Amino acid sequence: MSSQLKTHPHRRYNILTGEWVLVSPHRTKRPWQGKTETSTKKEAIPYDPECYLCPTNTRINGEVNPDYKNTYVFKNDFGALLEDTPLFEYKEGLLHAEGEKGISKVICFSPNHSLTIPDMEIADLVQVVETWQNEFTELGNTEDINYVQIFENKGAIMGCSNPHPHGQVWAQHSIPTEVEKKTNAQKNYLEKKGSGLLQDYIEQELKEDVRVISQNESFVTLIPFWAVWPYEAMIVPKRKMANILGLTDKEKLDFAEQLKTLTQKYDALFDTSFPYSSGIHQAPTDGAYYKEWHWHMSFYPPLLRSATVKKFMVGYEMFAMAQRDITAESAAEKLKSL
Ligand SMILES: [Zn+2]
Repeated sequence: MSSQLKTHPHRRYNILTGEWVLVSPHRTKRPWQGKTETSTKKEAIPYDPECYLCPTNTRINGEVNPDYKNTYVFKNDFGALLEDTPLFEYKEGLLHAEGEKGISKVICFSPNHSLTIPDMEIADLVQVVETWQNEFTELGNTEDINYVQIFENKGAIMGCSNPHPHGQVWAQHSIPTEVEKKTNAQKNYLEKKGSGLLQDYIEQELKEDVRVISQNESFVTLIPFWAVWPYEAMIVPKRKMANILGLTDKEKLDFAEQLKTLTQKYDALFDTSFPYSSGIHQAPTDGAYYKEWHWHMSFYPPLLRSATVKKFMVGYEMFAMAQRDITAESAAEKLKSL
């Protein structure tokens, strides 16, 4: 790798979104006087009578959670998207809006209140992957639903108030902006080069072996060259698949294994229950054939240099572009060593 990338301010191109990030490696030595967060100690109790996600507890709408043993999925009655929304269009001069129909669901990963993904058994994480597959199938086949977003917010500083291991799935009529960008980039690349964008990218990353954190037979986990968040990472299947439904049994196991490995490394990094937002980007479910799509899971963690120091996206980043100090390479080196 060019030594210029280690010393000089530069911008890096995100091949999936077409956006740039400013990297300032010379700044990593400046003293820190910024905000510190209170360290998040994990709750050790396996059942919390006050938790609305624990088995047998009553939720705010009066529904009682079953005594579930693996994963449990329910519709979020206070979701951002609602099923009975009309698909209206509003156009008035320069003002333009559209009705957005959708479904929001909550997925409990485990009945055990005290666990998080890194603590879970691989076999139980395979059940989580299969639950994601079931939701993708069911929601993707629903009329007027054209995209399914699976994601997790972990930790209070990511806006998640309940420590019970859970994620969400939002499914909607329109194709979200980030997904549209990634569709266009992968489509353009396939048309021009005749090969898959992420397939060629992971091939280069595996050859260079500077940003790869771990891998197994079916998956590679790496810090993308264009990472914005300090320890941003991606889990990418080595085989090109438009969505998670294409996973074989072996690949499900390998995916679960990488999921556990990455999140364990995250927890070990600052000796804390590491907060992040993670999400799976995959092809839309509008019935079209997306042969360019290569699904992947991304992790955007806010912590910068300890359990209590987080990165903010303010000032220059709000007005100009994303910026980072530690390089993707040094972040990868650190995570790889854990
Ligand atoms: Zn709970």
